[in-house]
Amino acid sequence: MRKKVIAGNWKMNKLANDANQFVDEVKSKLPQSEKVEAIVCAPFPFLAQLVEKTKDTKLKVAAQTMHYEESGAYTGEVSPEMLADLGVTYVVLGHSERREYYNETDETVNKKVHAAFKHQLTPIVCVGETLEQREANETMDHVEMQVTKALEGLSEEQVANTIVAYEPIWAIGTGKTATSEQANEVCTHIREVIAKLTSKETADKVIIQYGGSVKPANVEELLAQSDIDGALVGGASLEPDSFLQLVEAGA
Ligand code: 13P
Repeated sequence: MRKKVIAGNWKMNKLANDANQFVDEVKSKLPQSEKVEAIVCAPFPFLAQLVEKTKDTKLKVAAQTMHYEESGAYTGEVSPEMLADLGVTYVVLGHSERREYYNETDETVNKKVHAAFKHQLTPIVCVGETLEQREANETMDHVEMQVTKALEGLSEEQVANTIVAYEPIWAIGTGKTATSEQANEVCTHIREVIAKLTSKETADKVIIQYGGSVKPANVEELLAQSDIDGALVGGASLEPDSFLQLVEAGA
């Protein structure tokens, strides 16, 4: 039985104090169930303080991106080794906003996935189609290509430990959620693609999240689908109450 993983992606929001208050409030109220994992994906400047604050709690901390090299002349970048050294445990890779604004490609995502495993970071790999691609019936092929390239060269064990987040770009921050059937259809396809790349046994272990306008009002229906094992949530993850409701839905 796969557990549910609820990750709040704060994107470029909050200041240090808000981040601390959020975590103080959430950590004591999190459901203790082993069935759900709760993660906050915070901006770089807050990672150290949040890792410290969440020690010995069920709340985990993720970075929102990273470089694939361990160190070097990459002004402004943060390495996987730095994240691991801080005690960060997850990293979001290939978010559509990174792909759109910061030249993230399937190739760099793949390098980053390898780098994440090298440093014991669990990658949350984002894939998803544009509205144009959906309307042109290219969703399944596009997502298949993104997943295949992201996972290239990984061992079966590494694939089993990768989290894939299906985030249709047209549903991000737009209030337009994919219907739970639409979301599940693509998540099922992703699992089939992974089974083809590895084995059914491995594919059955992979956590596949849905993301795109998830909120307390629709999360239960999404999580009830056969191949949706969690949610990657932007806007509705910013307030402690709302985030807690999302996590409780997975417990
Ligand atoms: P929203 O939940 O705000 O639509 O954002 C989704 C997302 O991009 C999470 O990574």
